[in-house]
Amino acid sequence: MSGQASQNIVASTWTKHFTPPEKLPAAADVVIIGGGIVGVSTAWFLARQGVNVVLCEKGHIAGEQSGRNWGWVRVQGRDRREVPMMLESQRIWASLADDIGEDVGFTRGGCYFTANTSKELKSFEAWVDIARDYDIPTRLINAVELKQHVRGAAIDWAGAMYTESDGRAEPHKATPALARAAERAGATILSSCAVRGLETSAGAVSAVVCEHGTIKTSTVLCAAGAWTSMFCRSLGIDVPQLRVRGTVCRTAPCENVLDGNVFDERLGIRRREDGGYTVAHGSVLEHPVTPASFRYFFKFLPALMQELKIVNLTFGREFVDEWQTPKVWALDRPSPFEETRVLNPEPTPSVLKGIRQNLDAIFPQLANTPIVETWAGMIESSPDVVPIIDAVEQLRGFHIATGFSGHGFGIGPGAGKAIAGMLSGQDSGIDISALRLSRFFDGSPIRPQATI
Ligand SMILES: Cc1cc2nc3c(=O)[nH]c(=O)nc-3n(C[C@H](O)[C@H](O)[C@H](O)COP(=O)(O)OP(=O)(O)OC[C@H]3O[C@@H](n4cnc5c(N)ncnc54)[C@H](O)[C@@H]3O)c2cc1C
Repeated sequence: MSGQASQNIVASTWTKHFTPPEKLPAAADVVIIGGGIVGVSTAWFLARQGVNVVLCEKGHIAGEQSGRNWGWVRVQGRDRREVPMMLESQRIWASLADDIGEDVGFTRGGCYFTANTSKELKSFEAWVDIARDYDIPTRLINAVELKQHVRGAAIDWAGAMYTESDGRAEPHKATPALARAAERAGATILSSCAVRGLETSAGAVSAVVCEHGTIKTSTVLCAAGAWTSMFCRSLGIDVPQLRVRGTVCRTAPCENVLDGNVFDERLGIRRREDGGYTVAHGSVLEHPVTPASFRYFFKFLPALMQELKIVNLTFGREFVDEWQTPKVWALDRPSPFEETRVLNPEPTPSVLKGIRQNLDAIFPQLANTPIVETWAGMIESSPDVVPIIDAVEQLRGFHIATGFSGHGFGIGPGAGKAIAGMLSGQDSGIDISALRLSRFFDGSPIRPQATI
C-alpha cells in the first residue's frame, strides 16, 4: 500500500463521526427507513412533489452497500423485469449532476461482458434479443474490436457483449449528493438515527419509533438494505433475503487501459473519475451461512444452483451473531440496529490476493500500480435476484423496497422515482407489478434470469 491509502476516498462515507439529530420532527407524511441510494432517491423525488418526508439512517448516508459498490450503471445483462426502470434510471443519471448542482461522477464509458470462447460469445445473443426489444444498442463485438477498446490486455478473448450507452458513477459521491439535494428540496435527512420499530393502530401504521423519539406518520418505506428482512420479521412480515460479501479495491491513478466497465470471470474492473480503477474478482462472492440460510434454503435454491461456481459458503461468527439476535425487541431500549450502526465486513485477504494476481496477469501494464484502498460490502439479494417493491398487505401504510442484489446502485434513481410514485399516488410511468412480494409465496416459479 502506498501513502495514498490514507486518502480513504471510498471509506470516507462510513469512517466519519456519528452526528445524532438535534431534534426529531413530530410528524411526517412519509418516513423512510434507510439512507442508501434507494431511500435517498425516493426522498428526493417525494420532496420535489411537495411531500413532507423524513428519512432515518442508523449510521451514515451511503455507509453500507450504496457507498461500497463497484459503481457500474448498466442495463446490459439485467433481468427483463428491471429493464424499463433501469432505462429511466439512466435518463436520470444523465442529467443528475445538472439537476442537483453537484458532481456524482456519472459518465458513459460502455460495458463489456467478455467471452473466452465463441460458444460463450454466442450465449450472449439471448440478451442482445432483449436489448433489441427496448432499442438498447447492445451488440456482440469480436476479439479485434475488443482489443481496440480494452488496450493491452494479455488475454485472448473471443469477443464481448458490449453496450456503449452503459456507464458508471462514483458511489462515495452520488448518494450523499442526492441526500443533500433532497434536503434542499425540503426533505429531512437524519443520520445516526436508527428506527427500532413501528406503532400501529387498527392494522395500520401510526408512528415510527426511532432511538431519539417517535415520528407520527401513516406511510412508511422500509429501504433498509441488508436489514430489511430482520426489520420486517420483527413485525411478523416474512421477506426472504440473504447476504453475500463482496471484496473490492481501488488502484492509484495509472495508465488508461480502458474507459468503461469490463466483466471477465477473473476480474470486474472499471475506470474511476480519479484516474485509477475499481477492481474486484469476477467470480468470487462469499455467503456467510446463518440461520436465515436454512430458513430460506428452498426459496434460494435456484439462485444457489445458478451461482454455484461463484458463491463460496463461509462458516464464521455471522451464524452465532444472527442466532443470538432476538426476533423482536422492546422499542424503549437499544435495538440490533444501534448495535451495528454500520455493517462493515472485512475484505477477504485471499480474494484480494486473487484480484492482484488477475489484474497483473490480464493487464501487465498495471503490474506496478499500487492498490491504495481495500474494502468489502454485504450485498443483499432476493431469491430471484430482482428487487421487491411493494405495499405490504398485512400492515396498511407499510411498504418495502429491497433485494436490489448486486445491481441496485445503477437502478437506484429509477427505483426512487417508481417508489415515490407508489407512495404518493403520482403515476411514475414505471410498472412495478412484477416486483411484488407475494411472488415468493403464491406458488409463482422462482427463476433468476440474471446473476447476483
Ligand atoms: C461490493 C458490491 C458491489 C456492487 N456493485 C454494484 C454495481 O457495480 N452496480 C450496481 O448497480 N450495484 C452494485 N451493488 C449493489 C448496490 O450497491 C445495492 O444494490 C444498492 O446500493 C442498494 O441500495 P439500498 O439503498 O437498497 O441499500 P443500502 O445502501 O444498503 O442502504 C440501506 C441503509 O439502511 C440503513 N438501515 C438499515 N436498518 C435501519 C434501521 N432500522 N434504521 C435506520 N436505518 C437503517 C443501513 O444502515 C443502510 O445505510 C454492489 C454492492 C456491493 C456490496
